[in-house]
Amino acid sequence: QAKARGRNGYRLYAPSMAGEGVERLRLEALLRRAIEQHEIWLAYQPQVDIESGRLTGVEALVRWNSAELGQVPPARFIPLAEETGFIDQLGAWVLNEACRQMVRWERAGLRVPKMAVNLSGRQFDRGGVAPLVGRALAETGLAPQRLQLEMTESVIMNTGDALQYINDLHGLGVQLAIDDFGTGYSSLAYLQQLPVQTLKIDRSFIKDLAADGASQNAIAIAIIQLGKSMDLSVIAEGVETEEQAAFLLRHGCRRAQGYLYGKPVAAAQLLAQWGVGARRGKGGAAPAQPAV
Ligand code: C2E
Ligand code: MG
Ligand code: MG
Ligand code: MG
Repeated sequence: QAKARGRNGYRLYAPSMAGEGVERLRLEALLRRAIEQHEIWLAYQPQVDIESGRLTGVEALVRWNSAELGQVPPARFIPLAEETGFIDQLGAWVLNEACRQMVRWERAGLRVPKMAVNLSGRQFDRGGVAPLVGRALAETGLAPQRLQLEMTESVIMNTGDALQYINDLHGLGVQLAIDDFGTGYSSLAYLQQLPVQTLKIDRSFIKDLAADGASQNAIAIAIIQLGKSMDLSVIAEGVETEEQAAFLLRHGCRRAQGYLYGKPVAAAQLLAQWGVGARRGKGGAAPAQPAV
């Protein structure tokens, strides 16, 4: 950041912009090395059946623990990775690691029904995403129906040939979900053509859920209804309170993800929390399974 201490007038030359440019270059250089430096890892957040509390899946969320910069949030480095093309490498690493982790958990006695992985628009753009997913499945032996790929509405709407790429993915037998649903501009007619199985209600609509009858509930309820009428499964993201969960269940949304059920955690911790003999939910007393 530019200081106002400069001796002459040089600080008048948009120093913060120049500073940002340098910062960006540095970030980019560090990011390029981050995978080989083992600074990139995946956190996993549980997805549950609200009524039974059972684990229905996890979402893989990429983390960067930089030796130089500390924890860098994905909202900062994913856009950079997309702009620089590094997302190709990063996305491939994430897919492989997430699929491998399913196999490791299984060996440790935890069967996670489904792994959700986020895809970025840039990965989509050039048609290489289906072969990439196919390789990750082949290398790890994970059954395709246990992998769910999440794409946002804007990625789908802004990618030429998106329908083709999505059909290619569908052809592999993987599941597809629309992430942050309700925040983009998907046309419902287009949505109907997509071989998608799941809508994820964006957190912004869950955050404001209020007592029955309040107007801020309208969007969440509409998405649940839409899912029902289109025969899609609906999951709510960002569920933080029992009230939100009860509301969702009452309105026919059975699945949720959010801090109420668990924050994104390392693989070993997820095993400790959900593996055999793990203390489950709030009341449970059994000791946690040792991590592997
Ligand atoms: P997303 O896919 O919508 O992921 C959900 C985000 O909400 C995550 O943020 C998660 O930590 C956060 N979250 C979950 N439950 C709660 C809750 O109850 N309360 C609150 N306040 N937040 C909650 P995160 O991990 O920072 O990821 C941000 C975004 O970065 C993701 O949004 C996704 O778009 C992107 N991202 C993360 N990992 C990957 C990846 O491997 N590849 C790509 N392309 N994008 C990724
Ligand atoms: Mg997601
Ligand atoms: Mg989301
Ligand atoms: Mg979101």
